[in-house]
Amino acid sequence: MGLLSWRIICLFWLSQGLAISVLFSLALRALTEGCPADLPVENHLFALSEQMRAYSTQRYVLYFLFPVYSACALLAVLQGGAARRLRDVAEKCPASGFGQILFYYASLVLFLLVLKFPLVFYGGYFLDHSFGLSHQSLGGWLLDLLKWKLIDIAVIAPVIILLFALVKRYPRAWGRLFFLCAVPIVYGAVLLTPLVVDPLFNRFSPVPDGHLLRQIKHLEEKAGISGASVYIVDSSCRKKTLNAYVTGIGPTAQVVLYDNLVRRLPEDEVLAIVSHEIAHYVLQHVYLGIALSLAGLLILEEILQKLAPAILSRLPRGWGIVSLCDKAIIPAILLGWTLLSFLAAPVINGCSRCIEQEADAYGLKLTGDRLATARSLTHLAQTNLSDPDPPAWIEFWMFSHPSLRKRIEFVLDKSRDYR
Ligand SMILES: [Zn+2]
Repeated sequence: MGLLSWRIICLFWLSQGLAISVLFSLALRALTEGCPADLPVENHLFALSEQMRAYSTQRYVLYFLFPVYSACALLAVLQGGAARRLRDVAEKCPASGFGQILFYYASLVLFLLVLKFPLVFYGGYFLDHSFGLSHQSLGGWLLDLLKWKLIDIAVIAPVIILLFALVKRYPRAWGRLFFLCAVPIVYGAVLLTPLVVDPLFNRFSPVPDGHLLRQIKHLEEKAGISGASVYIVDSSCRKKTLNAYVTGIGPTAQVVLYDNLVRRLPEDEVLAIVSHEIAHYVLQHVYLGIALSLAGLLILEEILQKLAPAILSRLPRGWGIVSLCDKAIIPAILLGWTLLSFLAAPVINGCSRCIEQEADAYGLKLTGDRLATARSLTHLAQTNLSDPDPPAWIEFWMFSHPSLRKRIEFVLDKSRDYR
C-alpha cells in the first residue's frame, strides 16, 4: 500500500466508522419511537412498520454517503499524488500499453475498495443481515464482491483503452467516434449479461410444469409474446427479499422471478408481478433504456469534445496529469463520472418512474385484477422493508419506481379503465 498513506486510510476508516454509528443511532431511534399511524390509502393494505422505517432511513443515508465517499476517495488519490505515482509504476512495467492500463485500473479499483471498505461492508453485508433480509455467509459475500470487481475491471479497462486510443489518434473527433463504438458495446453488454454475468452468481431454471406455468403462458398469449422465456432464479441462497425483473435483449430477453416470490406469494399476486414484467418486455422498455442512455452519452461526448482541453488546463498541477490520455487522468474521469451520475439521478429516476407506471397500467390490462396487484405490491414492500411513503424529495432523487403509496393509488383508481 506504498502508494497511499496509511494516515489517509485511517482517516477514511475512522470517518466511516463515525458515519456508521450515526446510522445505527438513527435506526435505534426509529425502532424505539414506535409505529406511526396507518397510511391514509386503503389502510387494510399496508402500514409503515418501525422496521421498514429504520431500514429505509439507513438506505437513504447510505445512498447519499456512497457518492460522497467515492468522490473523497478519488480526490485523495489525485491530491495525495497516488494517481501520478501509480502511473509512473505502471509505465515502468514491461507490459504493453494495454497491460499497463489494465494494471493501473485494477490497482485503482483495489485502492478505492480499501478506502471505502467499512461503508461497502456495512451497506452490502451488515445492514441486510441485521434486519434479517440476508443469510449469505461472509465468505460468500466476499466472493461475490471479488467477482463484481473483476467484472468491473474486465469491462471498464478495455473501454478506457479504446478511449485513450481514439483521443491519441483522432484529437478532433474522438468524442463522436467513442459514441459510435459505445452503441455496439452497450447493446452487447445488455445482450450478454444473462448469458455471461448472471450465471456467475445464480442458477436459473424454467418455471416447472403446472398451473402457474399455464397461467403465465395464458398471459403471454394475451400480450402477443407466446414462448417468451420466464425463469426462476435461486435468490433464496442469499436473500429473503422478493423481486422480479426483465433482462437481456432480442434472443436473450427474459423475465426472471425470485424463487422466494414464487414460494411465498399467492398465485394471483405472482401473476400480477409477472404481468408487470411482461409489460416491460412487450413495451420494449429495455430498448428504451438503452436509447435514453445513449442519448445521454451523446450529449456528454459533444460537451466533453469541446471542453476537454479547457478542463485539462484547469486541473490542479499537483495531480500531475500531462495529457488527455495520461493514465493519471483515470481517477479524474471517475470523479467526474461519480458527480455527474449523482446529479443526473433525478432525471434518470424520473424517466424510470414513468416507464414503471406504464408497466403497471399494461400489467393491469393483462390481469384485470386490481386487488391482487395492490396486495402483491404490499407484500413486496413489507418483505423487502421498503418505505411505502417516502419524503417527496427522496422519491424525486433516488426512487426508480413510484412510491408504493402512489402505485397502490394508481392501481386502485376506479376512474382508470384498464380493460
Ligand atoms: Zn418494473
